[in-house]
Amino acid sequence: MVAEKGTISINTENIFPIIKKFLYSDHEIFLRELVSNAVDATQKLKKLASMGEFNGELGDLTIKVSVDKEAKTITISDKGIGMSADDIKKYINQIAFSGAKEFLEKYKDTPDTNQIIGQFGLGFYSAFMVSENVEIISKSFRDDAPARWICDGSTEFEITEAEKAERGTDIILHVAADSEEFLDNFRISGILEKYAKFLPVEIEFDGKVINNPNPIWTKSPSELTDEDYKAFYKELYPFGEEPLFWIHLNVDYPFNLTGVLYFPKIKKDFQLNRDKVQLYSRQVFITDDVKDVVPEFLQMLHGVIDSPDIPLNVSRSYLQADGNVKKINSHITKKVADKLQEIFRNDRTGFEEKWESVGVFVKYGIVSDDKFYDRAKEFILLKNVESKHFTLDEYREKVQAIQTNKDESVVFLYANDVNQQDAFIASAKKREYDVLVMDSPLDAHFINALESKLEKTTFKRVDSDSIDKLIDKGLNLESVLSDDEKKKVEELFKEVAGANTIQLESLPADEVPVTIVQPEFMRRWKDMQRISGQGD
Ligand code: ADP
Ligand code: MG
Repeated sequence: MVAEKGTISINTENIFPIIKKFLYSDHEIFLRELVSNAVDATQKLKKLASMGEFNGELGDLTIKVSVDKEAKTITISDKGIGMSADDIKKYINQIAFSGAKEFLEKYKDTPDTNQIIGQFGLGFYSAFMVSENVEIISKSFRDDAPARWICDGSTEFEITEAEKAERGTDIILHVAADSEEFLDNFRISGILEKYAKFLPVEIEFDGKVINNPNPIWTKSPSELTDEDYKAFYKELYPFGEEPLFWIHLNVDYPFNLTGVLYFPKIKKDFQLNRDKVQLYSRQVFITDDVKDVVPEFLQMLHGVIDSPDIPLNVSRSYLQADGNVKKINSHITKKVADKLQEIFRNDRTGFEEKWESVGVFVKYGIVSDDKFYDRAKEFILLKNVESKHFTLDEYREKVQAIQTNKDESVVFLYANDVNQQDAFIASAKKREYDVLVMDSPLDAHFINALESKLEKTTFKRVDSDSIDKLIDKGLNLESVLSDDEKKKVEELFKEVAGANTIQLESLPADEVPVTIVQPEFMRRWKDMQRISGQGD
């Protein structure tokens, strides 16, 4: 075959500089795209072999990535189906370039390039973001003559016959001067680590296989042990603490989704974790920004979700409106609730032990997702100052038995600072009233949400003026102060404490004689003002 020169049929002459500009901040994805293509070509060959349409020797199918600093090239070699000269003309000149053309037509007038970067899969064409010239040397599994194609990203290409003994494709990138950062082994191994870690075909770089082609989410839960799940967690987050438990997702209708979600231990002063849920599409890493796919309250979970049905190359707003994404969202919520319910029913003690962490998710879920309460109401736990846990029903029953003023709603007393409210807790206990601990950053919202869900139930902080209204235990309340002394003390405290209600209780001698209380509604009103930046 003589060298054939040709023009790719795109009207715009200067397509390359424009695309290069558009994709500027996301250049590294060229490697994701080219390695994915190598994987696709390999999988296609395996598929043909399994269908009896390829009877040759499959041999070692490892994909090899290499960097030649001197020659300034990066090469991606596979032993997949390969391409003949005609295949290249069809699949590269026409199809790959038409993607680029479509991209250009769609976005050439978009002023804000950041919005579109990385959302458009440019596949093969993305090679030109980092290359002066891109060369393909390929031999098809069909035994056609090997072919060599070279192109500088403009619409001009050259195609010739090539020397290549083995089946498969070498993509040789002649790296452009402004992209020489990619000739660094560290850089390349970093990119591969990010995008290719779980690709289904072995990938070799620097003499080592860099991926795990059979990650656990591709296997059936029945093949896996707890140790497998823990080991995979370590693989994902080498510095993470052991997870509390996990959920293996496996759906094939009405959408395709697999994955493993882990509940991490959450520290009391929890900060948003940097270990995030990772989103894959057929084992290719896409993003760890799963905002629209995973419900907000579950974004503190860890693990992996893989779905070919999540549209990845479209804009955010499209993703939010996408029917599949919404279904995936509610499926994940349901799975998480089912799992928690299962643990609660089968191992209540274990569940209570994990409540410190699990409670954060559950409370956040109840606060942020209206429907989650119904799924969770059976296993929402309340903890009292003796560190005993109760379900909502259990606690209601307990309080109803103690509370003597039956006409009002049931009152759940709580402390949000056990040390500071020590005297109030002691005085409630003296009257055999129970006190909950509500001291996490989420609890104020959690309380509001529960009040709106539970019928005739109110939460009152233990230092509100309610304890004596709730209960009359007939204690022998001989005050240590005379009436005169009381009056003096009352005035003194009013002066110091301003408008707060002063309650001089007739307390037994072993209790503090004076408490300053504030009605619950007053206190909450002040809290609200503080949150909105007014008040003190
Ligand atoms: P996509 O992968 O979405 O089809 P690409 O632009 O990445 O789009 O690739 C275009 C086409 O070029 C592929 O569909 C495939 O037919 C062909 N191709 C690309 N790389 C290879 C390869 N390494 N081996 C065989 N065919 C390839
Ligand atoms: Mg591709």
